[in-house]
Amino acid sequence: MSTNITSKYATKNKQELFDQVMAAILKSGEQGVFQTEICKEFSLDSRDGSRLAGNLEKQSRISREKVLYKGRWTYKLIVRKPSIAEDKNKPVNIDCVKDAPCFRCSFEHSCSSEDESTPNSPWRCALLETWVTTSFIKSFSDN
Ligand code: SF4
Repeated sequence: MSTNITSKYATKNKQELFDQVMAAILKSGEQGVFQTEICKEFSLDSRDGSRLAGNLEKQSRISREKVLYKGRWTYKLIVRKPSIAEDKNKPVNIDCVKDAPCFRCSFEHSCSSEDESTPNSPWRCALLETWVTTSFIKSFSDN
């Protein structure tokens, strides 16, 4: 984005402008908003609007679809949902199960929720029941 934006937002810094534009795009929901409307709303010329949208796209925060709007080509800006591949790359948070008794249980190798004949099963385990109950109560007292 050029540094000489002649808009009502010229006094705001770049990050503030990005955040406000993202908020406007977010507000438009899944249907998105035309880039020309964003330019108009934030008094950006088409070059600044295009650079700003391009930056948001590079940051994977939005996607841009080329569309014909009022006889002119523009882009529709849509907030990007994280893809499944991105979700798979996120670290898994195990905080909610890290104290589960199963991780240090000497019967873990024979415990089964499917084998009715085994004496050790999550369905009949007092240790597991106590842990679930205690965690449940603790979750309320922490909030
Ligand atoms: S459910 Fe109970 S018996 Fe089974 S592994 Fe967990 S703590 Fe052990």
